[in-house]
Amino acid sequence: MTIAHLPGRTGVSKPKTALIAGGGGFIGGHLARTLSERGVQVRSVDIKPFDGWYQIPEGVEAHQLDLSVLENCHEAVRGIDTVYNLAADMGGMGFIETHKAECMLSVLINTHMLMAARDADVGRYFFSSSACVYAADKQVNADVTALKESDAYPAMPEDGYGWEKLFSERMCRHFREDFGVETRVARYHNVYGVEGTYDGGREKAPAALCRKIALAAITGRHEIEVWGDGGQTRSFMYVDDCIEGTLRVTAGDSAVPVNVGSSELVSINQMIDIIEKIAGITVKRNYNLDAPKGVRGRNSDNTLIREIYGWEPSISLADGLEKTYQWIFDQLSGSERTGDRTARRAAI
Ligand code: NAD
Repeated sequence: MTIAHLPGRTGVSKPKTALIAGGGGFIGGHLARTLSERGVQVRSVDIKPFDGWYQIPEGVEAHQLDLSVLENCHEAVRGIDTVYNLAADMGGMGFIETHKAECMLSVLINTHMLMAARDADVGRYFFSSSACVYAADKQVNADVTALKESDAYPAMPEDGYGWEKLFSERMCRHFREDFGVETRVARYHNVYGVEGTYDGGREKAPAALCRKIALAAITGRHEIEVWGDGGQTRSFMYVDDCIEGTLRVTAGDSAVPVNVGSSELVSINQMIDIIEKIAGITVKRNYNLDAPKGVRGRNSDNTLIREIYGWEPSISLADGLEKTYQWIFDQLSGSERTGDRTARRAAI
């Protein structure tokens, strides 16, 4: 699909315009909806066919384009004030540990998006980096010291995916210093929520566990596979907090990469406890010690985000999982979204 006739920027009274690269994805879909609801004229671009997009909110201009190609980036940024680059070939541990080269090829997207943003003189450029930029040797214990931004150097990020993110962060910095592109960078820590990936191999732990427990509830086979021994720890941020953080970082004056993550540390076993409570069942846990596990422990140090923005993610894991579980349960059972979990449980 070509977008050769996109409107140009005219006059000062026009509504603000935003490009969401990767708008067909999980976070991109939520960002498109929020910005559009706030009166921003949103253009979402993604390589996926439209039937694979999580959401195309009302009023959002959607285009299918490969943003690893420079000419497509030039087309996509035309008339745009703010670029949000969320496009990347990525997934959970099961994906990034086995697709390192593909993850690194996302460097073409950020490189070409930055060049196009510079040439179009856009006002702001946001890049979604990741906690995977942090050195692995700082994440070997489940009882972690939370990661602060300066821990990214000396560099030894997650192989493949993390190296691409750290390199692209660096490129954002130098495009700002050398070419004056107003880049902003957030390091997301494990984002989860409704309207996201919950199966197929790219899903992350919260969605995967909600799916497994929802299936156990639906089928009556109360048994799930758990990757690792369940003692590995993480923090998980509900997508609404991620969107709020993204908007604050993009609008703010600070250009330094900042953690956008929850600081509520849990083990995988503790997360399963929470989901069991929501589902109203307990499951037998079969630990697969050979499955991809990632680092042993990781948490977000939120000192910097509090200092700069006077804000940090605050939606509790229990609240976020409640919504996520119910949404995944509905997808799997095909039941109506009545908002009444008890009724749905009773119907199984
Ligand atoms: P997602 O996979 O749902 O969304 C990424 C989107 O980018 C996909 O829809 C994909 O089709 C699109 N894309 C890939 N290659 C493209 C290309 N060449 N041209 C155009 N579109 C392309 O992932 P998400 O969870 O929404 O993540 C969004 C961003 O946030 C990514 O950059 C990711 O690395 C980063 N991030 C996410 C998390 C998380 O927990 N979800 C954590 C850290 C960082």
